[in-house]
Amino acid sequence: MSKSDKSISSVSDQARLEAMVAQGGGRVSKPWGDVTPPIHMASTYEREPDLSYESGAVYTRDHNPSYLPAETMLNEMEGGAGALLFSSGMAAAVTVFQALPAGARIVAPAIMYWGLRNWLIQFAEKRQMRVDFFHFVDSDSAQMTDEAGTADLASLLGEPADLVWIETPANPTWELTDIAVAARLAHAAGARLAVDSTVSTPVHTRPLSFGADLVMHSATKALNGHSDVLAGALVTAQADEFWQDIRSQRGGGGAVCGPMEAWLLARGMRTLFLRVRAASASAATFAAHFDGHADILRVLYPGLASHPGHEIARAQMQDGFGAMLSLRVRGGRDRAVRLAGRLEVFKRATSLGSTESLVEHRASVEGATTLCPDDLLRLSIGIEPVETLIEDVEQALAN
Ligand code: PLP
Repeated sequence: MSKSDKSISSVSDQARLEAMVAQGGGRVSKPWGDVTPPIHMASTYEREPDLSYESGAVYTRDHNPSYLPAETMLNEMEGGAGALLFSSGMAAAVTVFQALPAGARIVAPAIMYWGLRNWLIQFAEKRQMRVDFFHFVDSDSAQMTDEAGTADLASLLGEPADLVWIETPANPTWELTDIAVAARLAHAAGARLAVDSTVSTPVHTRPLSFGADLVMHSATKALNGHSDVLAGALVTAQADEFWQDIRSQRGGGGAVCGPMEAWLLARGMRTLFLRVRAASASAATFAAHFDGHADILRVLYPGLASHPGHEIARAQMQDGFGAMLSLRVRGGRDRAVRLAGRLEVFKRATSLGSTESLVEHRASVEGATTLCPDDLLRLSIGIEPVETLIEDVEQALAN
């Protein structure tokens, strides 16, 4: 083997994947050789004289070459058999439920993105679907534990189901669900397993490699990473009939983002590995600083050994534990809200996964149906130097 052959074969698959992502998919477009893809604004494509379509693109609701860089990168990162962009994370999630037959049985976590949970309850009622929520509360200790969640999921899957939906780590208290166990239980009950992996991102977790059938992302968050695009995505393990149905739901309803958003998303994704690793490292430092702090009742972060889901997180997250954490503030709701009001570096805004750090009092946002403790502040850690973030919270606690 020559020296150069050796150096090529020593490059790991992971390094190749990251190189491909850093190059926005790695394709140079002809004839100009652009190293960034053009934005294809056309909404329709010309037929050949024999009525065929040379490129396969017919109409932008189904096909637009601008969707391809982000879809290709996501599919490669997740190890999928196909990926589709959507106009939002909600549009992606909703399409999965809409592809289920009337009367379907769904099992989902009680702790999950509240917007989807609320939508699902209403949707299922209208479609005569049954949704059973699994709970993370341990009946003996009355504490939230990840083992309790898995046990409740197992007991609900004692009867057949069509879809198991999980989110891990789960908003906003960051319970972990063991994807491999959930996949085994779901499959034994005749169900598909879909994972909302928005918070973990493909940098930390690849749910299909643990047996999941579908992965969903709010691409609005870390995938884009700059708080300037609304988008969502699904990736499938099998390009089966269910996936074709999802594809035709998107084409039929047109819930796909525009070419400009798809282009911005692909641009944001080029720095995904850098941003997510940096933010996760800062989150770990930040969590360790406030763990045991006199003014903080609890730091909820899967990277802390004290987190009930830490062992599951270690088994299914690589390269860090994500950039999301929550602080339960000593002094209850009023002190938590006051603290958020005094922050100067953190921005008081909903959403997550961007370069700027965000803070939110989730119980206020979620309203009457919230399961979130009212002393809890949810933090999305950005890529600012972590000492500025620590100092910001320290000064707000002291004032
Ligand atoms: N899933 C999670 C975990 C989220 O945090 C969100 C949005 O906050 C969504 C899904 C919905 O995504 P979008 O806002 O892109 O519709």
